[in-house]
Amino acid sequence: MLTNWAGNIAFTASHIDRPTTLGGLRRLVATGARVRALGSGHSFNEIADTGGTLVSVAGLPSEIDVDTAASTVRVAAGTRYAELAREVHRHGLALHNMASLPHISVAGSVATGTHGSGVANGGLATAVRELELVAAEGDLLTLSRDRDGDRFAGAVVSLGALGVVTSLTLDLVPGFELAQRVHTGLPLSVLDEHFGAVTSAAYSVSLFTDWRGPLFGQVWLKYAADREPEFPWAPGAPGPLHPVPGVSPVHCTRQQGVPGPWHERLPHFRAEFTPSSGEELQSEYLVDRRHALAALHAVDAIRASVAPVLQVCEVRTVAADGLWLSPAYGHDTVALHFTWLKDTAAVLPVLGLLEEALGPFAARPHWGKLFTVPADRLPDLYPRLADFRGLARELDPKGKFTNAFLAPVLRGV
Ligand SMILES: Cc1cc2nc3c(=O)[nH]c(=O)nc-3n(C[C@H](O)[C@H](O)[C@H](O)COP(=O)(O)OP(=O)(O)OC[C@H]3O[C@@H](n4cnc5c(N)ncnc54)[C@H](O)[C@@H]3O)c2cc1C
Repeated sequence: MLTNWAGNIAFTASHIDRPTTLGGLRRLVATGARVRALGSGHSFNEIADTGGTLVSVAGLPSEIDVDTAASTVRVAAGTRYAELAREVHRHGLALHNMASLPHISVAGSVATGTHGSGVANGGLATAVRELELVAAEGDLLTLSRDRDGDRFAGAVVSLGALGVVTSLTLDLVPGFELAQRVHTGLPLSVLDEHFGAVTSAAYSVSLFTDWRGPLFGQVWLKYAADREPEFPWAPGAPGPLHPVPGVSPVHCTRQQGVPGPWHERLPHFRAEFTPSSGEELQSEYLVDRRHALAALHAVDAIRASVAPVLQVCEVRTVAADGLWLSPAYGHDTVALHFTWLKDTAAVLPVLGLLEEALGPFAARPHWGKLFTVPADRLPDLYPRLADFRGLARELDPKGKFTNAFLAPVLRGV
C-alpha cells in the first residue's frame, strides 16, 4: 500500500509513475484523465492523493544549475532541499531560509507554502523566480516573476492544481554562517511584554511549548555566527536538546553556539538523518502577526484539551508576501505549529476546538498539514482564492489535476 511519510494517508492510486524523460512525463499527463504530482510525500492530508495517475518527477534527469553571476539556481522539481543546499553552498551561495526538515522536495514544499522562521524571512516559495510545468494537455509552460507579474504570484503556491512542475529557478543570497543556541523556560507572560523583541532576537527564532504549563520550554535562536544575541528572558540550555521533551537530540542540528554553514543550522534536523516514516501528525495555523498574542492566549485557554494529544507546539514568524495562496499573503505572520501524537481519532476533535479558538484571528491552515476548516470558509482566509480558481479553470479546464481534497477548495462548496 502506498502511503504518505507519516503513514496516516493511504493513497488511492495503486502505483507511482516515475517517468525518466520530459517526453515521457508529457505523454503521461496528456493521456491521463486524472493526474496528481507527488513530491516526497511529507504532507499530512490528502492533498497529493489521486485515484488516477500519481506521478513523481524524482526520476527526471537531476539538475542543480547554480548561476553565480545572477545568484540563482535552476533546480529539478523533485530535488530535496538537503541536496540542493549542499550544491548551493559549494558555490558560496545560500537559500534565504529552510524548513525544519531538509528532506522535503522543492516543488512539494513550494506548492504548499512551506516556511521556516524569521521576522524578515518570507516562506520558501518567495525565492521562486521562475517555474516550468507540464500543463493539462502535455504542453510546456514557463511562468516567471519578471514576465508574468500577478499571474506568476498566483501560480507559485499551486497546491499541485495547475500542472506538474518540472523545474524551478530560485533566488540565492550570499553564503553565510549561523550559530544556534537553545534557551529554556520562557514564560508566556514574557511574550506578552516582549513578543516583538523575542521573535526578532535572531535571524530565525522558534518557540516550543507542550502547553502543559504556561512556559515555552525551549527557544531556538539561529543567529549570525559573529553576533550572539542578548537573550535576557531565559537561560541558555546546558546541553543540546530535541524540541520534543525527553527525545534524544542526536538527530538535531548542532547547537550551543558552534558556528556552521547556513544549511547545517537553519533546519532543526540533520540532513544525514533520513527518517523514512514519522510517528507523528502535524497541523499549523498562521495568523496576522498583530494577533499573535491573542492567538497564543486562545490556545492557552484550551491547553487542557490540546496538551494530551500534543508532542510539541512550535511558534515561528514568516514575513508577508504577495503569493496568492501563501499562508503569509498580505501580512507579516505568526505560525502556530502542532506536532501531534499519531492518533487521528484523538487529534481531529482537538483540531475543531483549535480552529474555533483561532477563528476570530482568521487563522489560515497550512495546506500540507491536517485541518478541518470547511472549504466555504477558505475564501475569507485566502483573499485571492477566487482569482486562483479562475487561473486553475483557465490552465486546467477539465479539472485533470483536481482531487477530492482540491475539489471543494476550487469550487467553494
Ligand atoms: C517532519 C516534517 C517537518 C516539516 N517541517 C515543515 C516546516 O518546517 N515548515 C513548513 O511549512 N512545513 C513543514 N512540513 C510540511 C511540508 O513542508 C509540506 O507538507 C510539503 O508539502 C512537503 O513537500 P513534499 O515534497 O513532501 O510534498 P507532497 O506531500 O509530496 O505534496 C504536497 C503537494 O505538492 C504538490 N506537488 C509535489 N510535487 C509537485 C510537482 N512537481 N508539481 C506540482 N505539484 C507538486 C502535490 O501535488 C501536493 O499537492 C514538514 C513536514 C514533515 C513531515
